[in-house]
Amino acid sequence: MITASILTIGDELLIGQVIDTNSAFIAENLNLQGVSVKRILSVSDSIEEIISGLNICSDSQIIISTGGLGPTRDDITKDAMCKYFNTKLVRNNEVLKNIENLLNNRGIQNLNENNRKQSDVPESATVLENNNGTAPGLLFEKNDSVFVFLPGVPNEMKALVTKKVIPIINVKFRNQAVVHRTIHTFGSFEAILAETLDDWVTNLPENIKPAFLPSAGLIRIRLTGIGSDKAELEHLIDVEVEKLFDIIPDIIFSTKGENLEEVVGKLLLEKKLTLATAESCTGGSIASIITSIPGSSSYYKGSIVAYSNDVKTNLLKVNSNDIENHGAVSEIVVKQMAENVKTLLNTDYGVASSGIAGPDGGTANKPVGTIWIAVAGPKQTVCKQYSFGKQREFNIRRSVLTALNLLREMLVNN
Ligand code: ATP
Ligand code: MG
Repeated sequence: MITASILTIGDELLIGQVIDTNSAFIAENLNLQGVSVKRILSVSDSIEEIISGLNICSDSQIIISTGGLGPTRDDITKDAMCKYFNTKLVRNNEVLKNIENLLNNRGIQNLNENNRKQSDVPESATVLENNNGTAPGLLFEKNDSVFVFLPGVPNEMKALVTKKVIPIINVKFRNQAVVHRTIHTFGSFEAILAETLDDWVTNLPENIKPAFLPSAGLIRIRLTGIGSDKAELEHLIDVEVEKLFDIIPDIIFSTKGENLEEVVGKLLLEKKLTLATAESCTGGSIASIITSIPGSSSYYKGSIVAYSNDVKTNLLKVNSNDIENHGAVSEIVVKQMAENVKTLLNTDYGVASSGIAGPDGGTANKPVGTIWIAVAGPKQTVCKQYSFGKQREFNIRRSVLTALNLLREMLVNN
């Protein structure tokens, strides 16, 4: 088994200002490659601490470090590297070019010395180009171990891990192929799904490992195959995915790693249908997730965020008596919201939400977490009531995903 250590650098980690999510990401991705992470260590921005951290971690074959590569005074990781690997900083023209391009794109024409300093790299390091930021990743080899230093900014670090570090590890440490497949499901609960799939998990081939990744009603089932023959692994995984379709056909919405908003977007596009939304408790979050997909303008027309009853009646033309008699969080109101926005914006489908996101505002009849979702289509309107829970953020997220999934089901069936 190949072993790894993760070293995160930064005073902000040690005073509790920043949570070390970088380690979790790296550990997850190394494990997926069959690499065993034996240690996660965080140290302060001090040359002595960084060097002692590297010494501790050097018993692993792979050492991945993040943080402290920036141009500010507290970023001294590069000086520590020079000391540890017995080398010196030299200016790297390719890195300088990359920094110039990046800053030009951000409207900065004249680089200052701090910017230029970021193109100083340890002479014996291999540079891993960073397309998302100014500090490149740096790689060293010493005593059969590979040391990789990455910037602390999470999106920069993630891109470098996925696109550069993992491929290098696979080439250097093994000739094994690794195949991943992620099956996306919506509408079950982790404990229930785990029970339903218990036999399936038990009977998986030896070299196919499952992982369940739940969040707000979405559960991703990720299969990882490790072996010598890539085509054979693909085939083994195909067979297992087929079995999943037999066991849980209703909740699988993608086997290609697509999320709900992508799947819904594709369906609308294929069927040449259009969509509008009327949002109360989700406050525009459905609109936001739909428009996060490039090209959504072909099928999405817009939203009326009808947070107050005034907007529901004046703009969305919901019957004010119905609001008075049944409350805004009711079937009759959410149905009108979906149908009226469809008519007002002249679309094929209308989606609406109305609920009590919390933490306050619940009553005995309608506790916090009571949410109505409606989807109005060309032939019918479907309204459903849900009760999620007490946490506002979760209720909003879950409402958004539930609305998307309800729309998806209608699009598939119509
Ligand atoms: P920069 O070029 O932006 O200075 P850097 O390599 O110097 O990058 P740091 O200055 O250490 O990185 O961190 C930049 C930001 O990245 C921090 O403000 C913090 O928000 C985030 N960050 C750093 N380390 C971690 C970590 N381990 N987990 C999550 N976020 C982190
Ligand atoms: Mg920094």
